[in-house]
Amino acid sequence: MTDRWISEKVAPAERKWEEFYRNRFSHDKRVRSTHGVNCTGSCSWEVFVKDGIVTWEMQALDYPQLEEGLPPYEPRGCQRGISYSWYLYSPIRVKYPYARGVLVDMFRQAKREALGDPVDAWAAIQENPQWRAKYQQARGKGGFRRIRWDEALEIAAASTVHTIRTHGPDRVAGFSPIPAMSQVSYAAGSRFMSLIGGTVMSFYDWYCDLPPASPEVWGEQTDVHESADWYNARFIAVMGANLNMTRTPDTHFISEVRHAGAKLTVFSPDFSQVAKYADWWIPTNPGQDTAFWLAVDHVLLTEFYRDSQVEYFESYARQYTDLPHLVQVSDGKAGQYLRASKLAATRTWRTATGRCSCGTARPPRPACPTEASATAGPPGQGPLEPGADRLLPRCQDLTGAEPHRLP
Ligand code: SF4
Repeated sequence: MTDRWISEKVAPAERKWEEFYRNRFSHDKRVRSTHGVNCTGSCSWEVFVKDGIVTWEMQALDYPQLEEGLPPYEPRGCQRGISYSWYLYSPIRVKYPYARGVLVDMFRQAKREALGDPVDAWAAIQENPQWRAKYQQARGKGGFRRIRWDEALEIAAASTVHTIRTHGPDRVAGFSPIPAMSQVSYAAGSRFMSLIGGTVMSFYDWYCDLPPASPEVWGEQTDVHESADWYNARFIAVMGANLNMTRTPDTHFISEVRHAGAKLTVFSPDFSQVAKYADWWIPTNPGQDTAFWLAVDHVLLTEFYRDSQVEYFESYARQYTDLPHLVQVSDGKAGQYLRASKLAATRTWRTATGRCSCGTARPPRPACPTEASATAGPPGQGPLEPGADRLLPRCQDLTGAEPHRLP
């Protein structure tokens, strides 16, 4: 015993527990990967592998600087990502097809009675109200049973063929995985739906990473700008998203742009994780956000387009939005887009959409049309300027006027 408080012992046998940590983090290989199965985050991860088994993961720290003046991306990652290898080896990971047991029993019985014809078997189920009710009312109650791949494919194929025969191909609606991460799966599924004449759904509608129907409304597959661009904003409205939860790896750009002076407004029924550091929290009820933004649109159209024409708004709308496109109006109701084919001077023009816009003349006149991808019309009439489509009330009056060719 010394006169010190602590007695230093050299006793390796008593420090065996340290081996646990050495083993836990040992590895024989490092590979680069991400988590593409359900996530478009595409964060870069170092994955440490031992004997072919993922042992642990770490956020990559070699992102390039995007541009001068923007905060760096790294480190990117989230709680789901760093525990991803747990999913890989989880005993409850889904690796096989499962179907609701009541439907499987029904299909097998119907197939026997249909002498082995799967389409007739599916038809028999659909034509029997009791059978339909039985499997439909089992939804939400569990009861899944593992089945063979060939049986799963047979049921899917039989139901597709029966639906096409009975109701038409456009009554078959399908999703396929995200194109950004699973190109082959996405292409196979969407091509199949396209070739049979089915309805190709947006995968956003499936997993609600964006507000459902966003691509249908905006004509874009995604919300287009990337998260780093948040840093260039000075007023940010967050709605339909809880950034900390849904865009965890990039949410640091929000706190960084707040330090840079941006104002943050959050529309959400709950005082969400992102609302707690917003400047304004507007506690909308479900459905009220649409009314709110229509009111904003009303103010913009009234004050900057109808009562006075503001060059900044007009040129922005022409260059970046689909606002200038004209629609036909009858009985005060908006109808179809005004097409080049409806106007005498442009009847023979061949364009991608054939739509007409307000053009760039002062005062505005209807102009046809627009898209950069349009094929050239008759000699001397291309090229065509980019544009898009929405209602600009001031231009409705002009649809009867003589159109002019865009410069
Ligand atoms: S956001 Fe999370 S789950 Fe998605 S890629 Fe990044 S770390 Fe993985």
